[in-house]
Amino acid sequence: MNSSQSEKDKNGQFEKDLRLGIMGGVFDPIHIGHLFTAEEARIKFNLHKVIFVPSLQPIHKRNDQITDIKHRLKMTYLATEDNPYFEVSKIEINRPGPSYTIDTVREFRKIYGWQTNIFFITGADAFLEIDTWYKKDELIKLCQFVAATRPGYDLDKLNDNFKKVLKIMEIPALAISSTDIRYRVKNNLNIKYIVLEEVRDYIYKNKLYV
Ligand code: ATP
Ligand code: MG
Repeated sequence: MNSSQSEKDKNGQFEKDLRLGIMGGVFDPIHIGHLFTAEEARIKFNLHKVIFVPSLQPIHKRNDQITDIKHRLKMTYLATEDNPYFEVSKIEINRPGPSYTIDTVREFRKIYGWQTNIFFITGADAFLEIDTWYKKDELIKLCQFVAATRPGYDLDKLNDNFKKVLKIMEIPALAISSTDIRYRVKNNLNIKYIVLEEVRDYIYKNKLYV
């Protein structure tokens, strides 16, 4: 039985009070900051599962600056496969054009039903940019936002509208970023323990970020 089936009731319908976490990201590469944030949100908000959604074409990054989706997707699978509550979705990969969060949330609502409680999980840096997100006012009505604290980003700066819808999750300071990991690989510096072993092996085997 896969995990989607286990969330269905005896009539084959998804539970009405399904609590779904969505963790969007570029995952170039996925690191322990992402994994810890997702697991913490799952526990804290009693989520049935967290779905990792690698973006095909992030709005805020140029296409030639990011690694091919096949590598980012594979690393996301490798990093999440040992957690039965984690899933990976290709929803943004299968949809051509820029990856808008609103479209992703709408698609998940279609799949899981309109009553599903969707928790969109971000880091503080990503939520601080919410003012620039496509159809943000509609988006904040469709899901709850969880923002994990991240060193260097102050959520107090948010305007009250956004503060109201946000659940802030204090996590131990993890000044880990994919940018830093890419820099470390390029400069032959250590990345052990900030990415999972499987991801580290994959990066070296495929000569990523060199
Ligand atoms: P990059 O440096 O390339 O921007 P990143 O480390 O920020 O990479 P993303 O894939 O851009 O990773 O982030 C996906 C989501 O994970 C975002 O919501 C981001 O805020 C969050 N996130 C990333 N790293 C952390 C961290 N160390 N602590 C908390 N949240 C994080
Ligand atoms: Mg980022």
